[in-house]
Amino acid sequence: MSRAAPLAISVAAALLVASVPAFAGSYISAIVFAMMISFVMAQSWDWVNGQMGYLNLGHYAFYGIGAYAFAILLTRGVPLVPCFAAGIFFGALAALIVSFPLFRLKGDYFAFATLAVVPLCELLANNFDGLTRGSDGITLPPNYVLIPAFYMVLTLAILTLCVTLWLMRSRFGYALRAIRNDEQVAEVAGIRLFPFKAATLVLSASFAGLAGAIQAWQFSYIAPNTMFNLGVALVPIAGALLGGSGLLLGPLVGMVLFASIEQALLTKMTHLRDAVIGLVIVLIGRFLPGGILRAKWIANHPVLSWLSRESHFEVKGEGGPAGERLPLSPQPVNAEKVVLACEGATMAFGGNVAVNNVSLTIRQGEIVGLVGPNGSGKTTLFNLVSGIYRPKTGRILIDGKDISQFRADEISHLGIGRTYQIPRPFLELTVRENIAIGRTFGASKVSLEEAMRTAGVFAAYVGLGGLLDRKAELLSLQQKKALELARALAAEPKLLLVDEVASGLSTVEIATFVKHIRDIRDHYGITIIWVEHIFSALQQVVDRLIVLDSGAVIADAPLHEAMRNEKVLSTYLGHASAEAK
Ligand code: ADP
Ligand code: MG
Repeated sequence: MSRAAPLAISVAAALLVASVPAFAGSYISAIVFAMMISFVMAQSWDWVNGQMGYLNLGHYAFYGIGAYAFAILLTRGVPLVPCFAAGIFFGALAALIVSFPLFRLKGDYFAFATLAVVPLCELLANNFDGLTRGSDGITLPPNYVLIPAFYMVLTLAILTLCVTLWLMRSRFGYALRAIRNDEQVAEVAGIRLFPFKAATLVLSASFAGLAGAIQAWQFSYIAPNTMFNLGVALVPIAGALLGGSGLLLGPLVGMVLFASIEQALLTKMTHLRDAVIGLVIVLIGRFLPGGILRAKWIANHPVLSWLSRESHFEVKGEGGPAGERLPLSPQPVNAEKVVLACEGATMAFGGNVAVNNVSLTIRQGEIVGLVGPNGSGKTTLFNLVSGIYRPKTGRILIDGKDISQFRADEISHLGIGRTYQIPRPFLELTVRENIAIGRTFGASKVSLEEAMRTAGVFAAYVGLGGLLDRKAELLSLQQKKALELARALAAEPKLLLVDEVASGLSTVEIATFVKHIRDIRDHYGITIIWVEHIFSALQQVVDRLIVLDSGAVIADAPLHEAMRNEKVLSTYLGHASAEAK
């Protein structure tokens, strides 16, 4: 579809809605008004859920807080505009305050904690009578404001869609989608989690706060049990899930459908609503997981597939492969310089000491093989260096800086890149997006546009040139591993940690991989630690071998020397040949 078409359709739809008060009566206008409020709630809720992957069951608390802030100030004679501003401000402030405790939690725990926020607010509103007049509620001066309120919420609804579109094509939005896919990997890729999470909740709450304020203005009466109502709180969630959470028009389509069903039922039986919400969620989960707009016939339709897209970033210019040269600035190699030093680093899981008093030094431009039997602590050592774990005792220094207390994103910005033994690409994102995230958030810090444009070069380098727009979940295991290497390289690391890539590769593929490892060091000055079970692969390229056994370093020597070491031969090579079978 050309770009003009969606724009023309949007403008036409907005004009159509804008004409409702002129042509339809106040009853219809009030219904459309309520639908738009619900849409703003559903869509702003979905920034946190659909984009970032956090299920917030307490979104309506911010709406109620906005309504109360507005009503309290208005009844004290404050002019309208500051009252609306207060609705936004206090919604946002509440979100900022709760984000500190809430974002210490993940998954179900986060969802349950947010569930408590709405009843808590109801309790507070009931008990702070001086401010809220308790359960009597606040009556606002009667004024017939449906028309101005209608246009205000229409503007807000359009703005909500614009913010969604921005999220779906911006660097900020990609941070959220990376967090949704794998928060830990996102942090290791250089995304500082808390500011993104808190900012998204605050953004979403400020829209809810304004929606609440507009609703209070139009209602002229608010009370704790209507503003902080758990039954109502589920409506935007049901709507977004029905249409398609995380899609540009998902919450809109869902809310329009949902409000229509609700309207049809409301005249008959009000109490049916909660049952209908439950039923809708169950049916969607069973028959259309992901919502209506993700249905196969829409996703595969030549024109409508646009509706199923999870991001709307358009790559400008040539995005394809551009030869073997990677757009990395070669780093000068000073063989004396220590890139990484571990000093007595120890890490234990309960009583299991996975890394035991490890001391080692890696110099710039080295390719070091890190070997040892399964469970000897290789991956755990990588996790310590990349900041997934902190050492229990001992220190880890990068370029002389003690990083033991650094977050993973800070470590990534020091130039540490890695792959995972069990590959962890961002599964719901494409090859191009995976690489671009590594590049724009990693040490290289190029813009998202530039990162998207040059992603093809990295993809081609690791043999994924033709698969740029394929979702990572559709790749084979080896392709996922290749993608991880591309994502790590794109960040312009100084030190690259490679965790078992060769198993499952053919001899020819191993030779290509070895060539890449050498090339990465020789041409770009990147230092490499390579964990590998396939010894024949390591042998072709490493300068030095560090051997771990039960978490401790048992040998650290140039390759040919290590291979003559009795202990190494019996612990490592014995195990390795056994495992290779
Ligand atoms: P390797 O990569 O050398 O095969 P690992 O570093 O994965 O070894 O594991 C070292 C030891 O630490 C093993 O005994 C493993 O069971 C344990 N271990 C690793 N990760 C965890 C974890 N997240 N929780 C508990 N134990 C772990
Ligand atoms: Mg491992």
